[in-house]
Amino acid sequence: YNVPFPLNEPVNPYIPGDSATESLLAKYKEMYNQAPIDVPMYIGGKEVRTEDKRPMSPPHDHQKVLGHFNYGGAEHVHAAIDAALAAKAEWSALPWEHRASIFLKAADLLAGPFRDKMNAATMLGQSKNVMQAEIDAACEMIDFLKFNVAYMQQIYAEQPESSDGVWNRLEYRPLEGFTFAITPFNFTAIAANLPASMAMMGNTVVWKPAESQVYSAQVIMELFKEAGVPDGVINMITVDGPVAGDIVFKHRDFAGLHFTGSTGVFKHLWKEIGANLEVYRTYPRIVGETGGKDFVVAHRSAHPKQVATAISRGAFEFQGQKCSAASRAYLPSNIAQEVLDYVVEDVNSFKMGSTEDPSNFINAVIDEKAFDKIAGYIDFINNADDAKVLAGGKYDKSKGYFIEPTVVVTENPKFKTMCEEIFGPVITIYVYDENKFEETCHLVDETSDYALTGCIFSQDRYAINTGMKILENAAGNFYINDKPTGAVVGQQPFGGARGSGTNDKAGSYLNLLRWVSPRTIKETF
Ligand code: GLU
Repeated sequence: YNVPFPLNEPVNPYIPGDSATESLLAKYKEMYNQAPIDVPMYIGGKEVRTEDKRPMSPPHDHQKVLGHFNYGGAEHVHAAIDAALAAKAEWSALPWEHRASIFLKAADLLAGPFRDKMNAATMLGQSKNVMQAEIDAACEMIDFLKFNVAYMQQIYAEQPESSDGVWNRLEYRPLEGFTFAITPFNFTAIAANLPASMAMMGNTVVWKPAESQVYSAQVIMELFKEAGVPDGVINMITVDGPVAGDIVFKHRDFAGLHFTGSTGVFKHLWKEIGANLEVYRTYPRIVGETGGKDFVVAHRSAHPKQVATAISRGAFEFQGQKCSAASRAYLPSNIAQEVLDYVVEDVNSFKMGSTEDPSNFINAVIDEKAFDKIAGYIDFINNADDAKVLAGGKYDKSKGYFIEPTVVVTENPKFKTMCEEIFGPVITIYVYDENKFEETCHLVDETSDYALTGCIFSQDRYAINTGMKILENAAGNFYINDKPTGAVVGQQPFGGARGSGTNDKAGSYLNLLRWVSPRTIKETF
């Protein structure tokens, strides 16, 4: 086999005034000003529209209507399943090189002609700034596509031993039936990768994107079509979750769920699948990446400025709407004040506003529901006796869903926002006695119902070792002297256990292996 092992897609720096920046911002303007678009569902390669049109607006400019998407019902779920099943035989019989070629072409198209459109759609629809869009909708999506093709090749090449007169083989069949992808708003790359990774391995897919991501979801479907993904291989439907679940999870041919979203929804779906086990022809594969309450732990030997940067960047990139976002920090008493001063200075320098101005580091949170939930947490903090706001703490939804990046300190290590996932721009910080590092690590572990990401800062190797041991199960992605966000495909395979998911590591062969059901063949001569 000769698929070249990829390098990560270089991040375009988008220097103000350069031609790449001008071109992206021109695309943003064009898409902002174009006639309202009408995003269809895609079923069996056909664009499907309904009477039920739902508006799409930029979260930072919610009075502006970008267009509508078409909302479907039970009949569309059935139609998408039928289309996936109808496409299955031909797609899965296609030699893997052809499937690989389609997705490599998609990566190439995205690196070239689709880059501006995918980034601009993500900036407009999900309120990501230029850099956050670029590292997600361009680089991470390209990396997922290319690295997964390389891993796919490695998987197919992995074969058992044979002996004289006997040839043993593994045939990596796709799962029997159809698969289902449910994707979140917060990463355009994840939205594309969940259906694409299953399809690469020969499966056909029903894909339900988040309603707040449909603007870029449409661009993903256009990209896949242009790259040559055949009709019916990936079917995108925008329907009510319970309506879809009620049909998909009661279908005999349901073979796998690839999910990224909230812990509560994932647990509910798992139970629903469990309750229907007798219906299925095969045990469905269940892969989920869910919530996080990701930690920053500093040792007394840590560099204050390094810790501060991890806090202000790790907590507030994309308004904290990453499963990996730093949302609680533990600072030793000897450096705490210095770290807090740096954090407050940095956070107060962040500009907040629309995504069309690249100097706005903070943009809007995704929608009104998220805004109200986060604002509720901020109200709770403002009224608490055992917590204090050091920076931010205000919000305003008159034009867009804007919430100031908010830094909170508490003397209570079990304070509500030290434990609960907020999924917004709020970090809560606890200062511990610098001589109680080990106890603090145990405390972090005990309060880790989630276990997605976390980081430790120290210049002392013994402390790093101690922290890593105590926190062994508290994070699937563990960072030493670095922030807990920004895992790069092919470099830091991503995922966690406990309440954070099945830890099947997006962007690695471990994930792709879940979408095959190998047949062992022994042939005797
Ligand atoms: N992979 C992303 C990161 O490392 C987070 C993905 C997520 O939020 O689901 O920041």
